[in-house]
Amino acid sequence: MADTDPDCIFCKIVAGELPSERVDEDENTVAFMDLNPATRGHALVVPRRHAKNLLDIDPEDLAATIRAAQRLARRALPALGADGVNLMNSCGPAAWQTVFHLHLHVIPRYDGDPLKLPWIPQPGDSNEIAAAAALLRA
Ligand code: 5GP
Ligand code: ZN
Repeated sequence: MADTDPDCIFCKIVAGELPSERVDEDENTVAFMDLNPATRGHALVVPRRHAKNLLDIDPEDLAATIRAAQRLARRALPALGADGVNLMNSCGPAAWQTVFHLHLHVIPRYDGDPLKLPWIPQPGDSNEIAAAAALLRA
């Protein structure tokens, strides 16, 4: 996989060819504000090297991206007065991914903000849970 995809908007943001509100960077990662924030302070952390998604990314780049997300999350609470943080990643269109350069959403959360879990927690069928577990075991 090439380090850069010429058709990728996040590669262009990393290269400075498209504008962004950059908030953090290191040797392997860049973080910038999401254009459509879920909450105040919603940012995205990306690896500098193009990787399509969670399945595709080099584990070292993934580790660097998660470390950068932790750095930003630690900053978000005192800097923004946030009360919590969600980290989110979507892998594949079925999982809502719309930009195909891996990114972690760092979403500051505020007591009483309007975000909701996208599923309704309710007890599953124990046989189905066990059957899925059997498929997942290596
Ligand atoms: P996904 O849907 O793939 O999980 O997340 C893509 C995110 O990228 C969305 O939250 C969207 O608002 C954000 N986004 C899309 N295009 C741009 C852009 O050009 N600049 C910035 N800063 N964010 C973008
Ligand atoms: Zn890219």
